Amino acid sequence: MAYVAGVDIGNNSTEVALGKVGESGEVTFLSSSLVRTSGIKGTLKNAFSVIDALDLALKKASLSRKELSSVLLNEATPVIGDVAMETITETVITESAMIGHNPSTPGGLGLGIGKTINIESLPGAATTDSFIVIVAGSVDFEKAALLINQAWERNLTISGAIVQKDDGVLIHNRLNRPIPIIDEVRYIDKIPLGMEAVVEVAEQGKSIDKLSNPYDIATLFKLTPEETRHVVPISRALMGTRSAVVIKTPRGDIQERRIAAGKVTLIGETSKAVVPVEEGAEVLMENVVKVAPLVEIQAEPGTNVGGMFENVRKVMAELTDQPVSDITVRDIIAVDTLVPRKVTGGLAGEFAMGNAVGLAAMVETQLLPMKRLARKLVEEMRVPVEVGGVEADMAIMGALTTPGTDKPLAILDLGGGSTDASIIDSKGEVNRVHLAGAGDMVTLLIDRELDIHDIDLAEKIKRNPLAKVETLFHARHEDGSVQFFSEHIDPRLFGRVVVVTDEGMIPVEPQEHLPKIMEVRRKAKEKVFVQNALRALRVVAPNGNIRLIDFVALVGGSALDFEIPKMLSDALVEYGVVVGRANVRGLEGPRNAVATGLLLANQHR
Ligand code: ADP
Ligand code: MG
Repeated sequence: MAYVAGVDIGNNSTEVALGKVGESGEVTFLSSSLVRTSGIKGTLKNAFSVIDALDLALKKASLSRKELSSVLLNEATPVIGDVAMETITETVITESAMIGHNPSTPGGLGLGIGKTINIESLPGAATTDSFIVIVAGSVDFEKAALLINQAWERNLTISGAIVQKDDGVLIHNRLNRPIPIIDEVRYIDKIPLGMEAVVEVAEQGKSIDKLSNPYDIATLFKLTPEETRHVVPISRALMGTRSAVVIKTPRGDIQERRIAAGKVTLIGETSKAVVPVEEGAEVLMENVVKVAPLVEIQAEPGTNVGGMFENVRKVMAELTDQPVSDITVRDIIAVDTLVPRKVTGGLAGEFAMGNAVGLAAMVETQLLPMKRLARKLVEEMRVPVEVGGVEADMAIMGALTTPGTDKPLAILDLGGGSTDASIIDSKGEVNRVHLAGAGDMVTLLIDRELDIHDIDLAEKIKRNPLAKVETLFHARHEDGSVQFFSEHIDPRLFGRVVVVTDEGMIPVEPQEHLPKIMEVRRKAKEKVFVQNALRALRVVAPNGNIRLIDFVALVGGSALDFEIPKMLSDALVEYGVVVGRANVRGLEGPRNAVATGLLLANQHR
């Protein structure tokens, strides 16, 4: 009889399964543990977390290190999923093409179209045009209202106003007829005069309807299809705001600027493709699928994407103590994202969403580092350490301890850095694949798209549902249900969107509408996990046909997510695949599959 520990070192977590192996090799599981991995997977720093996790599991089983006969490490290399995400291309809206913001109190309501004119020039203006008046901070609200009312008496058409100060309501209250007024426009002096503009203000609690739709902008400004394509980023940037202005200047107002992104060369086992990154994530991923299985991915030196690849390889080379030339990029996942960036020449200091392609790369290193780590552990712990068991095979053995499962079975290991799939047929043959992109990329996308710059908060947003604190005594959850509190909620949370965590409600900063946050969260999960699940299963499925897979069990940390399993289930149901979360050994849920598998594999030696 011997006490044996299986250790799974992941990018995020290090998991241990501790068991007693009897004379005839049967395993009795005693305890398990999970700690955060120290350092990057496959590096010497991992020793700290391995020792912590082992001590934790030993303690739970009331055992000491001395009693441990051996430690089994997963063959965690050669793939390391890196979280590097780079915004590769961007579309910047330059010049004063738009104002889209949410001043707290705009005035009036509806849509106004006309030529921009300084309000002080109204007395001399011709009556044949419609006007949008520009009210600089030097003109007070009484004078502004007076000038507009006088213009009406002269039969001028005034269809909207853009105001520098927070005077929208004050002007509105003094007008003979209502017009939409957008205020708090900081850089009012930058608004081009004599240009066609549209002002839209929505009712309180609603968002604008016309300027957030490219076809309506096209209708209003009589745009050609080509021009309409260019206003798409504008209309998207304006979605969800309560008021907005779009100004059409003769040329170049809506300018697309693309950063030289570079080309990626996808080298597959049998074919090759060269894809310019600026074609977007979709085209890139279509090609990744087309040339799969991938052998290596190269990026054009001296470009944006080339720089990113170089950096990833360099970091990995340093960490694993190998020459850069030994490190190849094995897989990438690209997703189209919208990241907020300050509008160059913006009129209210607003941000617009710029198109970007996010990339995560997975790097291949040599097997060496794991053996080094094993030696280090032997030194530190004085316990024999063995490296063995391919991670994907171990994961499937662990997953098979889920009650109700049997071969053939496919698993998806939804981790932090990579999404792995493996499949075992009825004869016990295993087929596997590791793909770049998993939970960490989702967190990163949430962080970037919502402009949070706080990975911990982004992680919380990913893992928990949202709510809006509507009064000091009640909050409305994102599913619409209302929760009442007997003691008042922290007043600082009043009116705020919060993440509902086990430790309480945490406000989301920067402030953003609940539906927007929810959408970003769900989209990020879908873009990464649905795409990767389909990609991965296609590789491991018999004849590449997902329909030939009947059952998929989900393991790994991201399988704990409150919406990812359902998304995958929905995506795979059309292939006739049943998806469920594994329950390793009937008690670990989707956790501990690899560590459990290591012990079970040892049993048959
Ligand atoms: P690895 O094998 O790469 O170490 P894990 O299997 O530990 O990864 O999974 C880590 C990922 O799981 C992280 O991206 C983390 O955010 C995610 N995760 C962990 N717990 C949850 C949870 N309750 N809900 C959603 N995601 C989770
Ligand atoms: Mg893992």
